[in-house]
Amino acid sequence: MANGSEMVAPLAAVSGFLRQQHGVFIDGEWRPGRGAERLDVFDPATGDVITTVVNANAQDVDDAAQSAHRAFENGAWTGLPAAERERRLLKFADLVEQNAEELAQLETLNQGKSINISRFVDVGGAPAYMRYIAGLTTKITGETFDVSIGAIPGARFNASTRREPVGVVAAIAPWNFPLMIGLWKIMPALAAGCTVVLKPSEVTPLTSVRLMDLAKEAGLPAGVLNLVTGDGRTGKALVDHPLVSKITFTGSTATGKAIARSAADRMLRTSLELGGKNPAIFLADAPIEQAVQGAVMGGFFNNGQVCAASSRLFVARSIYEPFTKALAQAVEGMSIGPGLDPAAQINPVASAGHRQKILDHVQRARQDGARILTGGDSPDRPGYYVRPAVVVDAAADFAISRQEVFGPLVTVTPFDSEDEAVRLANDTDMGLAASVWTNDLKKTMDIVPRIKAGTVWVNCHNLVDPNMPFGGFKESGVGRDFGVRSLEAYTEVKSVCIAY
Ligand code: NAD
Repeated sequence: MANGSEMVAPLAAVSGFLRQQHGVFIDGEWRPGRGAERLDVFDPATGDVITTVVNANAQDVDDAAQSAHRAFENGAWTGLPAAERERRLLKFADLVEQNAEELAQLETLNQGKSINISRFVDVGGAPAYMRYIAGLTTKITGETFDVSIGAIPGARFNASTRREPVGVVAAIAPWNFPLMIGLWKIMPALAAGCTVVLKPSEVTPLTSVRLMDLAKEAGLPAGVLNLVTGDGRTGKALVDHPLVSKITFTGSTATGKAIARSAADRMLRTSLELGGKNPAIFLADAPIEQAVQGAVMGGFFNNGQVCAASSRLFVARSIYEPFTKALAQAVEGMSIGPGLDPAAQINPVASAGHRQKILDHVQRARQDGARILTGGDSPDRPGYYVRPAVVVDAAADFAISRQEVFGPLVTVTPFDSEDEAVRLANDTDMGLAASVWTNDLKKTMDIVPRIKAGTVWVNCHNLVDPNMPFGGFKESGVGRDFGVRSLEAYTEVKSVCIAY
């Protein structure tokens, strides 16, 4: 335990959930998987297996896609008045709120993250997001146009557009914020009138499994929301299924590219929220204490397993030494412990494989000539822990400067001018997010438009809001989550031209 603080004791409902034999959720019912293969689900704090889930095969995926297709075609969902769909989605949000502690504990047990983050961000933030999107259900609009068509003498025309739901949506989610990002994928699809097959990450399926019963209780008709658990093969079978019309994916750039290639064959609509290698620029006037706090929050929140994490810090040369020293001290002082210990500031990463990947990155950085000021190794204890790391002397072409580590590790690099800072910040294939730390308004207004990233924060980092579009430039993805226009990606525009 971090500071002898009280560990959270799992609720009876959580222990009961872990003892169940979970299936796939298709046509509004739980079914055993068609095959015999199951996947172990681990507690990252101990490395123990806590339950198993189905590794859904192509037949399960077909069942789920057929179910979603039937529900789309029979109008079980699209045929309801928009206000009724909105009411049920709002009830879904209420049920997530009412079951928040159970969901938060499950998230921490399965993902490893701090119970504080599960309670206040993943689960705590979910109802507000869900209500925001649910509210858009009744605000889908088209446009009317004046047209100048002269083909039929004497005829007049009424031209307009309708936004129609695109069809069956395959929603594929990663393991860093499983419930939250799962909801980012399914809610706009449902609000637009689509039906959905959700595939959570094989590493963190549990809260998505729990979500299905809440969706049913909220009144989502059978087949409107289906769940297949499984690994990348399950995801690929879903992407390749002929009844799927749209893919909404959050995950790594490598998988996003593979999906985009498969999707191209059938001109599938895709929304791809991918990786990041995000810069934070600290100008000379940034107060050191605030800057270091910002760097810790931006780089180590959720153990650095955040797509928008500020993993590359660029610091004005005049403050580089004191900043780096204070950052290394702050990071070294972070308490390490299980997510169920509310006082632990650094928790295990999500899987044994991921811990090894981070350790390999550190070793490679060292071999390339970077210096590890603190951390970057594993403490001698069970569970998937990595000590948080601060890395310096990492040249721009080192792997550690270019590849997403997705763990508790930042590089710190000095710069001599704002132009150099912008050049270094943009020297990446990714473009998800960035931050600039300064109180100089003129410099802020000069730098922000020159940063190639989907979100630029000033004097903050890692903050998202349902009303603020979020997504990537360059290889960080295609499309935007959030905002009043977020349903558009789940609709087709149909022009209607009436002669009279
Ligand atoms: P991942 O790409 O390994 O897996 C994501 C999902 O895709 C999983 O459900 C996985 O089973 C599935 N999958 C794997 N291969 C597939 C295939 N060929 N076809 C279809 N599905 C397949 O990503 P991850 O390791 O789970 O998540 C971490 C990554 O997600 C990081 O790169 C991170 O930056 C990114 N991420 C991005 C955002 C964003 O909003 N841009 C948010 C969170 C995470």
